[in-house]
Amino acid sequence: MEKFDLVIVGTGFGASFFLKKYLEKSPPSRKVLVLERGIMFPHAERLKERRREKIAEEYAKAGSYIGTYEYHNSDKTWVFEPNFGGSSNCWTGCTPRFLPNDFKMKSLYGVGQDWPIGYTDIAPYYDEAEEIMMIGGPALTPFPRNKPYPLPPQKLSSVDKLLANRYRELYISQPTARATIPVGIRNGCCSSGVCELCPVDSKFTIENTLSSIFKDPRVTLRYNTTVLSLIIENNNAKGVIYQKEGKNLEVGGDIIALGGNAIFNAHILLASGDKSYYTGRGLSDQRGTFATFYFHDLDNLGGSSSITANGYMFYDVESRKNYSGCIIESFNEPIIRSEPGKWRKIAKFKFIFEDLPNDNNRVLLSNDPLKPKLEYNGHDKYVDKAMDHLEENIQKYFSFLPIEKIEFDNYFQKSEFHICATTRMGNEQKDSVIDKNLIHHQYRNVFVLGSGAFPTITPANPTLTLSALSLMSADKSF
Ligand SMILES: Cc1cc2nc3c(=O)[nH]c(=O)nc-3n(C[C@H](O)[C@H](O)[C@H](O)COP(=O)(O)OP(=O)(O)OC[C@H]3O[C@@H](n4cnc5c(N)ncnc54)[C@H](O)[C@@H]3O)c2cc1C
Repeated sequence: MEKFDLVIVGTGFGASFFLKKYLEKSPPSRKVLVLERGIMFPHAERLKERRREKIAEEYAKAGSYIGTYEYHNSDKTWVFEPNFGGSSNCWTGCTPRFLPNDFKMKSLYGVGQDWPIGYTDIAPYYDEAEEIMMIGGPALTPFPRNKPYPLPPQKLSSVDKLLANRYRELYISQPTARATIPVGIRNGCCSSGVCELCPVDSKFTIENTLSSIFKDPRVTLRYNTTVLSLIIENNNAKGVIYQKEGKNLEVGGDIIALGGNAIFNAHILLASGDKSYYTGRGLSDQRGTFATFYFHDLDNLGGSSSITANGYMFYDVESRKNYSGCIIESFNEPIIRSEPGKWRKIAKFKFIFEDLPNDNNRVLLSNDPLKPKLEYNGHDKYVDKAMDHLEENIQKYFSFLPIEKIEFDNYFQKSEFHICATTRMGNEQKDSVIDKNLIHHQYRNVFVLGSGAFPTITPANPTLTLSALSLMSADKSF
């Protein structure tokens, strides 16, 4: 059987940040195999497709997440990009850090689980991940930082400025991977609000920044290869079984790193016979809802991208004992009112709540070895209670603005696009799947990367943190 020192599944954030650090720490003799289920669908070709220009058949046929899992709940969707670079191709690039208290939910607030690491453990890797992604952000933040962000902050809108003046470090220019000035081959953000496929290749993607690691002479990258399971002998992974063009193939590896996201990592483990209680359990995401504010005599002008600011006024507060903390996003995509003279007297905010992982929301095996089955019975009451207090909290923190009326959407978005908690990290096998270095408790040569590792879901977006975890895991382990 063909054999490698390291076999990595996937080419998204989890896999790429791990590979980057592994290569930095490894001698030239190492051999790494990367197995990616999709293809390389370059940004330039994606733009052509969006402009309805002709593209090669290979690209036109690139897979989407639709049909990759079995699922029967229409209330919530689980969205990702199954090609080279994973969801870095379609993410929005919002990159707040977690707050120190996010790692200690059980001991501080009596809910969820504590993480086996604290903020100070991950802080140096936050610095490193922010350097790699060239994050722009402000000087004043609600989380401690040792040095300035690599790029300048994005500009606030006029409404944001009033909130920032009042709430200081609790209302900040959103840290972002939408480059605030041109950097490397990335252009400065064009503020068009079309982030899902950035028209100017401004946001960080694996393709525009980390492609070179896959060209390292130690690395072999194979496309159209879907990993089905690990080959386990005596609690040790000897390699993986993967499918290519309908055929099942085997490859050996001394170390295996799963970077297939929180759905597919859990699925691969279950298909390998992992009987850990928590494997696949806790499938969760945050829940977000919009509110549109209409003002009497306040124009909302300026601001430099689609989401300009983050509000933390009711994120890490006492009420977290009873209901979810909330992060606020200031949505700066152009909207105008139709009344003469009032066109710009409007602002839109998104309120995003943390959920608590529920063991009955889970990834399971289906009859099709390629497709996980997802069971999702809804979010925790913790979130509903937070929604019940939303209007009261908005009154408390926004009423100094000249508000004419607020329109609430009053329903949750189908997805915040953050798939978490199916392979939780913890100190012991009885409460988790992997340890603090992302190594499987039972299969000690298997790393399980990505936001599946999160024992609790914070209100903040997960990708900066999961990327920092990958850097930390590879740094501590090799
Ligand atoms: C529209 C959208 C907007 C988002 N915006 C933000 C944001 O602003 N901020 C933020 O923090 N997060 C955001 N996210 C979430 C973010 O994209 C994810 O947290 C992140 O991509 C997860 O990284 P990952 O490497 O774990 O998984 P992925 O990015 O999903 O990558 C997984 C990789 O593994 C491959 N793969 C999967 N299964 C297999 C298999 N069996 N065999 C071989 N290869 C496999 C996939 O093809 C892919 O390359 C957004 C997501 C979406 C969809």
